[in-house]
Amino acid sequence: MRLQLYNTLGGKKEEFHPLEAGKAGVYTCGPTVYHYAHIGNMRTYIVEDGLVRALKFFGFSVKRVMNITDVGHLTSDADTGEDKMEIGARREGKSAWDIARFYTEAFFKDYKALNCLMPDVLCPATGYIKEMIDLVLVLDKKGFTYRIGDGIYFDTAKFPEYGKLAGKSHVEGLREGARVEANPEKRNPADFALWKLSASGEKRQMEWDSPWGVGFPGWHLECSAMAMKHLGETIDIHCGGEDHVAIHHTNEIAQSEGATGKPFANYWLHARFLVMGDAGKMSKSAGGFITTSTLPEKGYDPLAYRYYCLLTHYRKQLEFTWDGVAAAARGLDGLRSMIARLLEESALKKAHRPDKNAAYYLKFSEALADDLNMPQALATIWEVLRDTALPSEEKLGFVLAADEVLGLDLKRAPAEDVLPPELMSMVEERQQARTNRDFKKSDELRKALLEKGVSVEDTPKGVRWKLVK
Ligand code: AMP
Ligand code: ZN
Repeated sequence: MRLQLYNTLGGKKEEFHPLEAGKAGVYTCGPTVYHYAHIGNMRTYIVEDGLVRALKFFGFSVKRVMNITDVGHLTSDADTGEDKMEIGARREGKSAWDIARFYTEAFFKDYKALNCLMPDVLCPATGYIKEMIDLVLVLDKKGFTYRIGDGIYFDTAKFPEYGKLAGKSHVEGLREGARVEANPEKRNPADFALWKLSASGEKRQMEWDSPWGVGFPGWHLECSAMAMKHLGETIDIHCGGEDHVAIHHTNEIAQSEGATGKPFANYWLHARFLVMGDAGKMSKSAGGFITTSTLPEKGYDPLAYRYYCLLTHYRKQLEFTWDGVAAAARGLDGLRSMIARLLEESALKKAHRPDKNAAYYLKFSEALADDLNMPQALATIWEVLRDTALPSEEKLGFVLAADEVLGLDLKRAPAEDVLPPELMSMVEERQQARTNRDFKKSDELRKALLEKGVSVEDTPKGVRWKLVK
């Protein structure tokens, strides 16, 4: 069975053919670490994790590279705003470097809680300044750059294919300056900064020497330089959220292809946004967003959110509701309970290898092969578990193999299961503290339990607890 992916470049589903047989190089744009990642960002990372897991399922050996944007991402797409890292530093009274370190760690804590596989290569932009300067030098030599008061810019008029990812109408819009407010010195509103110069008299926290003067790299430059360094001049698959199509990825293509004369990526995959009712898209700059750690605070296993994401195809917008997460949590618990029962049958301690020719296995593979149809893949698991004609060991073998792709940790005990005695006695001790109206102690115990992966809730029927990690 051949994996088909929807390629934003060209706008249709295509069979995936890697550059090198059996191998897949994947570049995914990483977080801008000036704030916590919100659950919208995490939707995109869950989609990308699903892609990597599906590639592995189809037998590819995957090399996945993710950047960490710790410099150069400005608040305005017109390259005129402030660096988001400096905003974060000011907000918290810390250095930009401390902000980067803190939010990188916070990001991977969330990332792992959602059971996303760690990338093979992680590259912070500040570690690749030399590679970025070298890339600008190549572009300079080839005549793609020009200098204005605040930096070195890419001249989009010199790259005839500019905008091919987003389509012609988008480019026309950019040319008219409709989407990005114009910097009057730019030759064309779509032109973008490769290297920005620190303003005279200004001492930025993050700045470097360059052949053009002290300054910092443009945001788009980092992904071109790091992707090509780790995956070669042409890479198999490049991913990100849908917002990246129009500007960030469009500019990455212009720089990379301008420099090498070769296609930058053969497949471009984009996840649609998570939106929240009337508030629309969730964004870090707007504040008031929901993070992964809000989930256990509300008594949900973060993987219930992963399950929730799997219920909607990645090319459809995902409307976030807490009711939806609650339903997903019930679904996840339901699956885990059925699997716990299968595991209890002693003969099944060792799951059978799945029969790759079985109809349900083929159905699952077909769903994945059809542009990562996770809702369909998940439905197949339910179908298998409910099929009374299937022997238990076959069910278990299949479900555990399928879970390698879905990443739901289905072997984990369902929420209503037994707690280890030491945790159970903490729950009881907390209950006693509440009875004694010692709320300080009961709160401390609640926090201590949460750290150990148990959330407790006081209901009219007494205390209820749940495993959340
Ligand atoms: P950032 O940290 O802002 O650079 O974004 C990290 C990733 O999250 C990028 O791939 C974005 O395209 C993606 N992203 C941003 N907002 C959303 C959203 N509301 N829903 C889904 N993905 C998003
Ligand atoms: Zn990028």
